[in-house]
Amino acid sequence: LARNPGEAEFHQAVREVFDSLDRVLQKHPEYAEASILERICEPERQLIFRVPWTDDRGRVQINRGFRVQFNSALGPYKGGLRFHPSVLLGTVKFLGFEQIFKNALTGLPIGGGKGGSDFDPKGRSDAEVMRFCQSFMTEAYRHIGEYTDVPAGDIGVGRREIGYLFGQYKRLTNRYESGVLTGKGITWGGSLVRTEATGYGVVFFTQHLLATRGRSFDGARVLVSGSGNVAIYAIEQVQAQGGIVIGASDSSGSIHDPDGIDLDLLREIKEIRRGRIEEYVAARGGRAEFRADASVWSIADDHAVDVALPCATQNELDADAAAALVRAGVAAVAEGANMPTTPGGIRAFREAGVLFGPGKAANAGGVATSALEMQQNASRDSWSFEYTEERLAGIMRDIHERCAETADEYGAPGDYVVGANIAGFTRVADAMLALGVI
Ligand code: NDP
Repeated sequence: LARNPGEAEFHQAVREVFDSLDRVLQKHPEYAEASILERICEPERQLIFRVPWTDDRGRVQINRGFRVQFNSALGPYKGGLRFHPSVLLGTVKFLGFEQIFKNALTGLPIGGGKGGSDFDPKGRSDAEVMRFCQSFMTEAYRHIGEYTDVPAGDIGVGRREIGYLFGQYKRLTNRYESGVLTGKGITWGGSLVRTEATGYGVVFFTQHLLATRGRSFDGARVLVSGSGNVAIYAIEQVQAQGGIVIGASDSSGSIHDPDGIDLDLLREIKEIRRGRIEEYVAARGGRAEFRADASVWSIADDHAVDVALPCATQNELDADAAAALVRAGVAAVAEGANMPTTPGGIRAFREAGVLFGPGKAANAGGVATSALEMQQNASRDSWSFEYTEERLAGIMRDIHERCAETADEYGAPGDYVVGANIAGFTRVADAMLALGVI
């Protein structure tokens, strides 16, 4: 803690993993002898840089850019870029730390990293976003590469931003190195299913969770927080499996639609108009309502809920919200976002026997499909939607199994937090041991 002052989210993420590891260290003293715990929470490299750019009024703006290259024992650093005004070094470190274990759980050859900036794309023109991305890449290009570090999207970084970043990388290096970024458009090296992958993957994972209790999404009432990339495709897959999504949100509030969210309308507002979620209610009519500044979990105060999928941001589901969900009858909670549930929230779900899928397992479908994009780029191939979706579904099934089996093996049956932490940790720790003290 003393070495990383003021980085509360990073401390929270490390504590959450280390809390699961006592049983591992008893069984494997070699990890402690090689100081794996001390090494694993120290990033291999951290980059902080100035990102100057000019806005549409001709004024020079300064933002801060970050890339934390956390662990490359299993493969090149891999993890998204987040553009949001709240981004600090500690945010990027917590996300990068989580990413190490998530990537290990996929079984694919990718290390862990994360990056971003305190740049706020909201309200900025396309030209401003482009100039910012070009400036960000003008520094970042020296540190990334197909075999070194492969960034992708996250909050505030979607296809548009990845396009501008890739364009500048290509220009600076004079190389069409498709494998340097993932989340690209289909005509310029992207993979089908990457856009849908995180949201779909969360739902595939939850499907396996529910099946352990003989349940499914069919007819289930579902709350999804957020209305960005992860949330939209989680809603789509829940609906495909017969579930009814009765609530979604953004940072201005939440919508409750007892008849089930009209996804085409929500996408129109969020993906095309880049508008606020409040606009949904006027356009939808009927019984839909907007709850200003209220989290989507407030719907659980007065409505039954079977499944909750937090897909917005960290620490958005606290102990009080968890208690409301438990009272509303929630059977399963799976994290589409990274660390959205507070430690108190996780405790409440555990005590109530609610099935709980932690982010590093439940939302790993996005990075797994990014690794499939890297495979396609390396072989100059492009796979069909059906084949790629099948691979994603298989990966999510394997992650679920790996977590469940590991939890059993370490005496915590049904505890997916323990299962995910231990399964991810041991894979990385074994590789670190094999590579020596580096
Ligand atoms: P987007 O930027 O597409 O969407 C984020 C959504 O969350 C928006 O609806 C946004 O609302 C809302 N949100 C963001 N910050 C806050 C906040 N402080 N309070 C309330 N709502 C907020 O991001 P993604 O969908 O890509 O990412 C969502 C989460 O999923 C993040 O935790 C990310 O790390 C995680 N994740 C993403 C992956 C991916 O493939 N994209 C992969 C794995 C995890 P508003 O528009 O008002 O800001």
